[in-house]
Amino acid sequence: MTADTPVLDHWIGGSLSAGESERTSPVYDPALGQVTKHVRLGSGADVDAAVAAARAAYAGPGGWGRSSIAKRQTVMFAFRQLLAERRGELAAILTSEHGKVLSDAAGEVARGLEVVEFACGMPHLAKGSYSQSVSTDVDVYSVKEPLGVVGIISPFNFPAMVPMWFFPIAIATGNTVVLKPSEKDPSVANWLAELWTEAGLPDGVFNVVHGDKEAVDALLEHPDVASVSFVGSTPIARYVYEKGTRAGKRVQALGGAKNHMLVLPDADLDLVADSAVNAGFGSAGERCMAISVVLAVDPVGDALVDKIRDRMGGLVTGDGRGEADMGPLITREHRDKVAGYLDVATTDGASVVVDGRGVEAAGAADGFWLGPSLVDHVATTSTVYTDEIFGPVLSIVRVASYDEGLALINGGPYGNGTAIFTNDGGAARRFQQDVEVGMVGINVPIPVPVAYHSFGGWKASLFGDAKAYGPSGVDFFTREKAVTSRWLDPATHGGLNLGFPQNS
Ligand code: NAD
Repeated sequence: MTADTPVLDHWIGGSLSAGESERTSPVYDPALGQVTKHVRLGSGADVDAAVAAARAAYAGPGGWGRSSIAKRQTVMFAFRQLLAERRGELAAILTSEHGKVLSDAAGEVARGLEVVEFACGMPHLAKGSYSQSVSTDVDVYSVKEPLGVVGIISPFNFPAMVPMWFFPIAIATGNTVVLKPSEKDPSVANWLAELWTEAGLPDGVFNVVHGDKEAVDALLEHPDVASVSFVGSTPIARYVYEKGTRAGKRVQALGGAKNHMLVLPDADLDLVADSAVNAGFGSAGERCMAISVVLAVDPVGDALVDKIRDRMGGLVTGDGRGEADMGPLITREHRDKVAGYLDVATTDGASVVVDGRGVEAAGAADGFWLGPSLVDHVATTSTVYTDEIFGPVLSIVRVASYDEGLALINGGPYGNGTAIFTNDGGAARRFQQDVEVGMVGINVPIPVPVAYHSFGGWKASLFGDAKAYGPSGVDFFTREKAVTSRWLDPATHGGLNLGFPQNS
């Protein structure tokens, strides 16, 4: 760390905090390939401080957990307004640390804003239920109460949207939050924290602890953390789920993906080619809902590869602040790892139709560039097919039939997203029912559900029962309390009865 690079602090109890840990990590501008700042890597003591602030803000008669719905909604609407007005600022910060092009960053913010707007309807969503006179003079009502302090751990690829899948709902339902963002692009989290303060959220309701495994472990072990919402790679998701649930917490852990697009012979191949390019190379393929495999059912393979290659010829890789279609990868190491799959492809007998390694990027020489790459005739035994590459490498696998394609999708370890492209409604309907994947697109390549449905995959793409946002998110951040009450009128006494209560 040099003296002239700024250091990003934690946000605890409504203000910046250096914390006690001396450890830091460099933060890059991936389009420049340069370190722009360092971020603190919090210790167990730093997590303790953030959880203590969140606990203090939650508890007691004046705490956020007991605040009126009216008060919470005033803050939610103010936050929504500020975010809508200043979304451009947030997108610019995001591009400078993640690298995705500005229009894509703006799209990410918009999808996060959708969840904030959904949470603005919380009075209706979390209003519970009431049954009058379940027995003589007895009423039953169920209320949804907050959990307490909730932890959120997010990945690098959506530093704004993924935290916003969770915290608007957590806060609107009366919880207080400790967010541990990715250490690779952490500034967005602090910007959001300041926005909450501006919106009138009491200090300590929203806290940010920066860090790595040490902070994650401390959150998972902390007795005052009621739940953990995690998004990241599958091995870490599994680890977080197992460790968190062992510690008695409610955990939802969303993991990695390998999303297939099944193309039937009757599909509109121009729509397919546009969709494959958009979904394969948007955000440099660093999306958990990216399409990474196109399953081309015979005989569409050759024609489809031609159309995709033609479209790729027009793509500009470069600095997301300029006119580029696709930005850099997140780090030099990740770029090199992704590029390595192009060597593997050749070794494993596939043909590299478009090779992004020699790309002439519209940006600084040291940027973490890799151009869009297309690999045809990929064998399903190759790691190009089996690994989640998480970069701009699109594979084509030739299959003889719908059944062969479906078997590949259902045989894989992940079940995040998938899409079928066809003009046959019956085939699409069959696919919708046959496929073992949590989010399905029909002629839609990136089927991320809107905020009032829930987001989440199956199998190794989601550990736990609860999906993100939508009705599932409201359930995750609340626990139901059922109250049975009796008010006698006139006030008569029922007398002794040791039998199990029965309604009458
Ligand atoms: P990652 O698993 O490396 O990191 C995610 C979070 O875990 C970060 O906050 C990181 O600091 C923390 N972490 C890293 N190593 C850890 C360890 N050993 N112990 C405890 N915590 C640790 O993921 P990433 O590279 O930031 O993000 C990309 C991955 O996230 C991809 O696999 C992608 O598919 C997945 N993802 C999934 C979804 C989804 O909805 N299913 C959404 C976005 C991203």
